[in-house]
Amino acid sequence: MVDACIVTVSVGVLAAGSIAFKPALPAIYTKALKALRMGSYKKIAVELAHMPPEIQENTNYYLYNDGNNNTPEEMWQFYRHSDYPKNVLIAHMSGDFAEQLDAMPDSDVYRAFKAALTEAYEDTTIALRSTKIATNWNADPLVAGAYSYTA
Ligand SMILES: Cc1cc2nc3c(=O)[nH]c(=O)nc-3n(C[C@H](O)[C@H](O)[C@H](O)COP(=O)(O)OP(=O)(O)OC[C@H]3O[C@@H](n4cnc5c(N)ncnc54)[C@H](O)[C@@H]3O)c2cc1C
Repeated sequence: MVDACIVTVSVGVLAAGSIAFKPALPAIYTKALKALRMGSYKKIAVELAHMPPEIQENTNYYLYNDGNNNTPEEMWQFYRHSDYPKNVLIAHMSGDFAEQLDAMPDSDVYRAFKAALTEAYEDTTIALRSTKIATNWNADPLVAGAYSYTA
């Protein structure tokens, strides 16, 4: 029997109740867990078949998403770094937009990003190669979100 145990899982994991405590956590903790929430952040990396010439290296772009493909109206932020492999873009989204994207199949997220690029650069030949990856920290039971904040 030990006197104390230090638990450092995220508040998302604690709030999900996936760890049973005996004795139960004090009420002050469970009450705090209702206010301390997990926020969402999402990153996707895609490789384009060709890069529109307007997308310069080492420049941060903010692309308004007008709700295409049943996605919310929000902002894709993306970057093309000179150290990345050729034609790779990394987009990162936060807050409610990231939460809604996390709830969609990855294939729909890629399709929506491609549609936003196609519209912004007026280039119907934009195509994504098969190399792509997306994070989903909301779906990860070991964190249940990306960062903690007070609601
Ligand atoms: C893209 C991104 C960018 C971020 N940027 C920042 C930033 O700039 N500044 C900042 O302060 N924070 C940032 N964060 C948040 C950052 O994740 C946290 O601040 C930091 O990781 C919290 O550390 P932690 O040790 O509290 O929790 P974690 O790093 O989540 O560690 C908890 C550990 O508990 C383990 N665990 C979970 N459940 C169980 C279980 N049932 N049994 C055993 N082990 C379990 C997990 O596997 C994990 O290893 C960012 C997060 C993301 C996703």
